[in-house]
Amino acid sequence: TDLAHIRNFSIVAHIDHGKSTLADRLIQSTNTVAERDMKEQLLDAMDIERERGITIKANTVRIDYIARNGEAYVLNLIDTPGHVDFAYEVSRSMRAVEGSLLVVDSTQGVEAQTLANVYQAIDADHEIVPVLNKIDLPAADCDRVAEQIEDVIGIDASEAVQVSAKTGIGIEDTLEAIVHRLPAPQGDRDQPLKAMLVDSWYDPYLGVVVLVRIMDGVLKKGDQIKMMQTGAKYGVDRIGVFRPAMTKVDELGPGEIGFITASIKQVRDTKVGDTITHEKKGAEKPLPGFAPSQPVVFCGLFPVDSAEFEDLRDAIEKLALNDASFSYEMETSAALGFGFRCGFLGLLHLEVIRDRIEREYDIELITTAPSVIYHVYMKDGAMTELHNPADMPDPSTVDHLEEPRIKATILVPDEFLGDVLKLCQDRRGIQLDLTYAGSRAMVVYDLPLNEVVFDFYDRLKSVTKGYASFDYQITDYREDNLVKMQVLVNDEPVDALSTMVHRDRAEMRGRAMCEKLKELIPRHMFKIPIQAAIGGKVIARETLSALRKDVTAKCYGGDATRKKKLLEKQKAGKKKMRQFGKVDIPQEAFISALKMD
Ligand code: GDP
Ligand code: MG
Repeated sequence: TDLAHIRNFSIVAHIDHGKSTLADRLIQSTNTVAERDMKEQLLDAMDIERERGITIKANTVRIDYIARNGEAYVLNLIDTPGHVDFAYEVSRSMRAVEGSLLVVDSTQGVEAQTLANVYQAIDADHEIVPVLNKIDLPAADCDRVAEQIEDVIGIDASEAVQVSAKTGIGIEDTLEAIVHRLPAPQGDRDQPLKAMLVDSWYDPYLGVVVLVRIMDGVLKKGDQIKMMQTGAKYGVDRIGVFRPAMTKVDELGPGEIGFITASIKQVRDTKVGDTITHEKKGAEKPLPGFAPSQPVVFCGLFPVDSAEFEDLRDAIEKLALNDASFSYEMETSAALGFGFRCGFLGLLHLEVIRDRIEREYDIELITTAPSVIYHVYMKDGAMTELHNPADMPDPSTVDHLEEPRIKATILVPDEFLGDVLKLCQDRRGIQLDLTYAGSRAMVVYDLPLNEVVFDFYDRLKSVTKGYASFDYQITDYREDNLVKMQVLVNDEPVDALSTMVHRDRAEMRGRAMCEKLKELIPRHMFKIPIQAAIGGKVIARETLSALRKDVTAKCYGGDATRKKKLLEKQKAGKKKMRQFGKVDIPQEAFISALKMD
């Protein structure tokens, strides 16, 4: 296809504003998919994505559209992940296209994710077409929302397209806007090949599939290619486009988006953002701005049943093959035995991987408290990264600690503002900005990532009854008074419950943890002290009193089957516990103990 008849775009939106539905409608109205193959949320392929209603990996579709002017266009839609955990992947996908549809729910207005995503689009120099969705609903208020888009984001919304992705109103107008308002890609067939590696994943039939956007040059089947950042070389064995089913083509030229396979063994060998060129007569300089995505949140994953350690290793290795941003290394915990310390892009990423291990591999897991990466500066001047509070060096050898900080943007209806400010204040936040967008306040806070990573979002949702929206980016590392807090159960330290806390908040956190654990740990035949300590000094303490009767005592001696049943129940319950010294701690305690209400 000639460049003038190609349009590449993405759709940016806050969750639930209708991105997937609009994509479905664009695909359907252009007969890209036969009616009988059409299903909802066509681009959201993974089960977990469907269940949680979120799009995790970028998905792509090529749409043929005959415009009102009679000319045939090729429209390439890259659907991007909507969640902040995957911000790096969003920014890569954005650089692979020239324009964006900004979908805003006309009954709701601009939200924090709308802002975060649209700023990424603006950063990538996109032309942006505002689309006001859900105009079929009585509460739709297009004028107000258009005004808000202009006020808050500062882009012209006077010609926003009014759409109902549900009923199909305005879909053709959207397609026309894509053709006439978004720019055609640029590129030169005669230059050396430069293709951006936008995404990659493992396909059970094809092996590793790489999504590419050709900038310059032409990519053909059989070509010998080279990844410019990793230096790896491959022969291209398949080349194609997504309609959205994979369809073979002979070549991909400038401006085109498609996939290749090249006998690449694992997804880890492909780095999102890398530049692909020909091995011979290749490009000299890679595309700018390559920085691999780094895990920011770490936690331990341990099998509940220690006999399943090898199965867990197998599961983790398989998942890692398909997810380059997930890292892992073996870990031994005095309390939990053998397991893995794993790195994730954020909490959602963590939850998705944990769910998949439990569901797809049927392994019950103990997940330890998520932790961010601290920079530990030693007295001798060396700096080490701390991924696990259990590894904290002897404090007498440490000069100071630095922690990652974020800039958080929260949009919230006025009535909840007070609660949100209090929450941010409680989490050691520093207010940077407070402005209004209609009846909603936009607050910007500087916060420590470790105060956010755990349950901030849950708390925010609960204090605002779900009306707040939230987004963040990591800004820098800064020094603060941070200490390692240990928890001792029955006088034994439980390393899996160690956390890094701010010194000023340690007592409060310690007390809350001990109280929680007292509720979560079942009573035993003996008294159990539960303590929080910093460097050997106890700062909080609770005591779990002893159990008097055993569980079968109430069976009046007679009913043997009932007695047996109860014992079986006990045994099944036991499997979900881990023994620490003489104490059984239930699996959910490791996460629940850290939640603050
Ligand atoms: P996404 O999270 O942005 O991908 O949003 P979805 O496409 O999954 O849509 C979220 C919800 O809004 C779903 O229940 C859709 O059926 C609904 N929805 C999407 N577009 C419209 C629309 O134009 N009108 C109405 N009434 N509902 C819509
Ligand atoms: Mg969606």
